Amino acid sequence: GHAGVLLAERRGSYPPIDLRILKTNSQPGEVESGTRRKLKRLLSFQRYCHASRLLRGLMPHTPGSLHLLDDDYLGQAAHMLSKVDTWNFDIFLFDRLTNGNSLVTLMCHLFNVCGLIHHFQLDMVKLHRFLGMVQEDYHSHNPYHNAVHAADVTQAMYCYIKETKLAEQLTPLDVFLGLMAAAAHDVDHPGVNQPFLIKTRHHLATLYQNTSVLESHHWRSTVGMLRESGLLSHLPADMSQDIEQQLGSLILATDINRQNEFLITLREHLDNQDMDLQLATHRHFILQIALKCADVCNPCREWELSRQWSERVCEEFYRQGDLERKFDLEISPLCDQQTDSVPAIQIGFISYIVEPLFEEWQRFTEPSMLSQIMMGHLHKNKACWSRLRYVHTLAETKTHPHAEEPEPEGGQEEAEDIP
Ligand SMILES: [Zn+2]
Repeated sequence: GHAGVLLAERRGSYPPIDLRILKTNSQPGEVESGTRRKLKRLLSFQRYCHASRLLRGLMPHTPGSLHLLDDDYLGQAAHMLSKVDTWNFDIFLFDRLTNGNSLVTLMCHLFNVCGLIHHFQLDMVKLHRFLGMVQEDYHSHNPYHNAVHAADVTQAMYCYIKETKLAEQLTPLDVFLGLMAAAAHDVDHPGVNQPFLIKTRHHLATLYQNTSVLESHHWRSTVGMLRESGLLSHLPADMSQDIEQQLGSLILATDINRQNEFLITLREHLDNQDMDLQLATHRHFILQIALKCADVCNPCREWELSRQWSERVCEEFYRQGDLERKFDLEISPLCDQQTDSVPAIQIGFISYIVEPLFEEWQRFTEPSMLSQIMMGHLHKNKACWSRLRYVHTLAETKTHPHAEEPEPEGGQEEAEDIP
C-alpha cells in the first residue's frame, strides 16, 4: 500500500505540456528506451565493479584489446578520484570518463573512503541499485538539473564535510545524510520551476499545496527509492525513519525561497558565537547550510567550470521561457532569452544569493583555505560577468541604435546594480 503510493509519486515530474512536445519530437525506437535503460544500468554496475578493481590497484583480468580504451578512461577516472577533495575537480571530465556514471561512481567511492559501507553494514548490491535508480531518475536532457549537477553538489558537499571545523564533529550518520541529500536533492527535476508547475496546474503542485513543490518531490522520490532498493531495510525501523526525516529536512532546505530564514539564523549563531556542534540539532543546521552552499557553489568554482554551469542553467531557464511563449503563458523572470542575458542573470544570482551565503559560510569556517579560494573565484567570476554584460549591452545598442544608451561601467569591476 504505502510503497505503492510512493512508487506512483516518483517518476511523476514530467510536465503535462512536455508530453505534447515529446509526441512531435519522438524518434523511432523510443519505445525500447526502458529496456535500453535497464541494460545501461546493468552495464554501469559492471563498469563500477571493473572500476573498483582498478581503484583498489588490481589489474583487470581481461587485457583484451577491446577493453583498452575503457581501461584507459577508468584509469583516468580512478586517478581523478584520488583528488576528489580538491576544489578544481572537473566533474564534466569525470562524467565523460565514467561514461555518464559520475554520480554512481562518485558516491560509491565517497561511501567507501568515509567508511560508511562498513559502519552501516550496507549491502553493495542494494547500494548500487539505489544509486543507479537515483542517477537514472535525473533527466539527462535537462541542461542543468541533471545527474552531473547532483554529482557536482555531492563533490562540493564532500569538500565542506572535510572542513576542519566540521570533520572533527560530524558523526558517520551526519556524513551519510550529507552525501545522500546532496546526491538526491534534485532527483526527477522536470527542468521547470515551481511557478511554472503552479500555473500549469501540475499534479505535483496540487499534491504539495504550492509550497516547496519540487523539493518535496525530490525528497519523497528519494524515500521511495530507498524503500524500493531496501538499502536501509536491515536497520531498526526508528533509525531508518529518522534518516528519511532528516533527509527531508536537508533537501527541503535547498528551497531558495527559504534562503533568508536560514541566513538570519546563521548570522545570529555567528554573532552570538553559540554554535555548539556537539549538539545534533546544530550539526543538522550546519549540514543544511553546507548543502545550500554546495547547491549554489557554481560561481565559486574556477571560471572555466563556472561558466559552463552558468550557460547550462540559463539554457534551462530559456527553454522554460520558450515553453511559456509557445503556450501563451506569461514568461517567467530570467526566462526570456531576448531580454535576460547570461551575464545579467549571473550577476543577480551572485549578488543576491551566492555572495551573502558564502560570506557567512566563510565566517563559520574561518580560518579556511577553501573558503578563501572560493571567495577569490567568486569575486573574479563576478567581475568577468560584469565585463561581459558591458560588452553585451554595447553590442545590443549597435544592433538597435535607437535603444537606450547603456550605462558605462568605466572599468568598475564590481558593479552592484540590479540586472
Ligand atoms: Zn540543485
